[in-house]
Amino acid sequence: MRQSFLFTKTRKEAPADEAARNASLLIRGGFVHKEMAGVYAYLPLGLRVLEKIKQIVREEMDAIGSQELIMTSLQRKELWEGTDRWSDEMVDVWFKSELKAGGEVGFGWSHEEPVGNMMRSYINSYKDVPVTVYQFQTKLRNELRAKSGVMRGREFVMKDAYSFAAGEADHTLMYEQMKVAYMNVFRRVGLGDDTYITFAAGGAFTEFSHEFQTVCEAGEDVCYIAKEKGIAVNEEVMNDATLASLGVTREELVVNKTDEVGNIFNFGSQKAADLNLTMMTETGESVPVWMGSYGIGITRLLGVIVEKYADEKGMVWPKAVAPFHVHLVGLNLDDAEIRDYANGIYASLQALGIEVLFDDRDARAGEKFADSDLIGIPYRMIVSKKSKTEGLFEVVQRKSGEVKKLSESDVAAYFSGNSTW
Ligand code: ATP
Ligand code: MG
Repeated sequence: MRQSFLFTKTRKEAPADEAARNASLLIRGGFVHKEMAGVYAYLPLGLRVLEKIKQIVREEMDAIGSQELIMTSLQRKELWEGTDRWSDEMVDVWFKSELKAGGEVGFGWSHEEPVGNMMRSYINSYKDVPVTVYQFQTKLRNELRAKSGVMRGREFVMKDAYSFAAGEADHTLMYEQMKVAYMNVFRRVGLGDDTYITFAAGGAFTEFSHEFQTVCEAGEDVCYIAKEKGIAVNEEVMNDATLASLGVTREELVVNKTDEVGNIFNFGSQKAADLNLTMMTETGESVPVWMGSYGIGITRLLGVIVEKYADEKGMVWPKAVAPFHVHLVGLNLDDAEIRDYANGIYASLQALGIEVLFDDRDARAGEKFADSDLIGIPYRMIVSKKSKTEGLFEVVQRKSGEVKKLSESDVAAYFSGNSTW
């Protein structure tokens, strides 16, 4: 894409009321627009990152046989009353409204109750399961404090999945497959080394739920981590009983600030029993379905990636989620001959299937470099009078600052390497 055409601009300053570094950088880079605290619009650059994260999650969900759908944002009060989760005392993040025609509705902060209820129309017998569905949805939560930028939105994109099985064996299989799929996601987006399956407060059915916590200074959680053993414990369940049941000692655990990028819940058959979601067994008995619930904070993940990897110059995107792979920065473009030449290089990179943002703007070199650092595309390639004369391009890796001089035939191989950066 040509930067002269790209909708949005970079800015020198973020809004004064923006406290979070992730949102400040995203706003300054032209990735998001702040509507109000905890509410952000995704502009073309931000949307490209969001869609890349979603696509990775989609591939991992599809790979374990989960099927995509979209549920509704408006939800029925009666469904949540049935499980005692309608009142603000039980769930403190509800947004609610009234229908003009009469009656109350809730705005979806989770879809456990609606999906369980929906499945009553589709699951009647053991032959109808196992089934797992997922969606990407904008959840609405009336968060009291929304000071962490896109890491804690009042409106945010979640991937939520729900599994339904006839018994413990199939149910456990899906739960374990989800754990693997989730770790694949976090590895692929560039957070694998710092994300831990973490023991956290459970629910009605299990002692623990599993959170996926990423070590991050800006995170809102605190976890105790034994890196070598791969064990992490949320401080909320950090006590002698937990330590004993996990077989670790306090001395083995190091305290870290972390952020919860995912959370999975094993409901056993309790949730379906509450929702009256039952099926016929082979022997003709009516039993509740076994259910699991699995969430990833898609927009939170984007924020965590910004926080973890940004440096003093701006954002640094791992290749897998970067809005473009190469930032082609054109210099001396007021010279018609150089402009033609630069356009040719841009076209040939595109023809190679490389995602290129071409800075063809009429701006000073210093401004272009500063913007390029801020936007954080993995490679910057300079096309200029000098590169035309030399037949070599200066290529800078954003993450390491490493500079290479490459010929046109060498750049493609260099960009298509398998590294995270
Ligand atoms: P938190 O403890 O951070 O408030 P939660 O435990 O209430 O989150 P879940 O209901 O487990 O959140 O939601 C699943 C996932 O959605 C979380 O693991 C997190 O990644 C993401 N998420 C939850 N709340 C928000 C939010 N307000 N903004 C962005 N992402 C969120
Ligand atoms: Mg959670």
